[in-house]
Amino acid sequence: MKAFLIDVARCNGCMNCQIACKDEHCGTDWLPYAAEQPLTGQFWCKVEERVRGTVPKTRITYIPQIGGQSDALAAAAGDAAVQRDDGLMYLDPEKAKGRKDLCEFEGVYWNEELQIPQTCTGCAHLLDDGWEVPRCVDSCPTKALRFGDVAELDLEGAEQLIAGSRIWYRNLPKRFVTGCVVDFDEREVVIGADVKLVSASGNTVAEQKTDEFGDFMFDQVEPAAYQVIYQAPGKDARTYDADATQVDVNIGDVPAA
Ligand code: SF4
Ligand code: SF4
Repeated sequence: MKAFLIDVARCNGCMNCQIACKDEHCGTDWLPYAAEQPLTGQFWCKVEERVRGTVPKTRITYIPQIGGQSDALAAAAGDAAVQRDDGLMYLDPEKAKGRKDLCEFEGVYWNEELQIPQTCTGCAHLLDDGWEVPRCVDSCPTKALRFGDVAELDLEGAEQLIAGSRIWYRNLPKRFVTGCVVDFDEREVVIGADVKLVSASGNTVAEQKTDEFGDFMFDQVEPAAYQVIYQAPGKDARTYDADATQVDVNIGDVPAA
């Protein structure tokens, strides 16, 4: 069984994978595996750019997404889906004719001219021609994209965005809570303040000291409502709410006392 493993922490957003997929499939058909992809409108491999936090404490995360390749799509497509022995699947361009209903699945696009749904084929035409990995994986300079046998990829702890898909992820972004402790009287940041991130049930999730810029950053914490409790040296402790349920939180510059 083959699968893709995407390490989000290694992805720098270069878009090589997205471009390589286009280069492979636009202007060329690979029948019987795939009809030609239109020049615009379809992204069988798509790199999502996610901007998190607020200025000046922002992070940009790139999340490559590969369409199709799920049990649910294969089941809905019926005999319009070709299930390969290696575990990958693709939509048969002939048998899928007219199946616009399949475009309700993530990463499946409608080709108006040909009247077919289209999505990632796993580059089955290349694999059957002796390639060890598809074009998108071959083009990735950072090894953020990997492809191989499930056993060799070691998927323990990896996650899926779509249950039952062949696409697995590591290091998907969770939430961060950040801020800066400032002594406004001294017009200086506070280095070495104790900062705790505390859950709604009162448990300390993480603790750290502010760095040389007065900053603290609790990264990759679970989406939840927290309190930030900090104490500058020689000052009383102060508490701020940080609701990271929906978004990353920058509580900004907070006073030392
Ligand atoms: S496996 Fe091939 S078709 Fe699928 S996203 Fe990668 S390059 Fe595109
Ligand atoms: S080629 Fe690799 S590093 Fe570049 S966007 Fe795609 S996954 Fe990320």
